[in-house]
Amino acid sequence: MAQGQFSIFKKGYISYFPIFVHSIRNLGMKKLVCPQCKIAAMYVKNEKGERLLVYVTSDGTVIPKNEGESLEGYDVTEVFCLGCSWHGSPKHMVKY
Ligand SMILES: [Zn+2]
Repeated sequence: MAQGQFSIFKKGYISYFPIFVHSIRNLGMKKLVCPQCKIAAMYVKNEKGERLLVYVTSDGTVIPKNEGESLEGYDVTEVFCLGCSWHGSPKHMVKY
């Protein structure tokens, strides 16, 4: 969805850019950040203790940072900050 809008932008409709930014916000695509150190880089863990890098959108959805990765098996109810010792529910993250 974001890519489709980007291709409109690339075609030269620069005046559409504010609408593009606005619609991303409306779609809840803005990233939430750590309440302590204010970075968006988070990870989640699975039962084996493996980490997967993620970010969290403003509606509290956990999204894998790298395309094609799956959250299957990972506990998305608790996220861990890469920048500090904070961890907790994605709902406790803050808007930048
Ligand atoms: Zn942090």
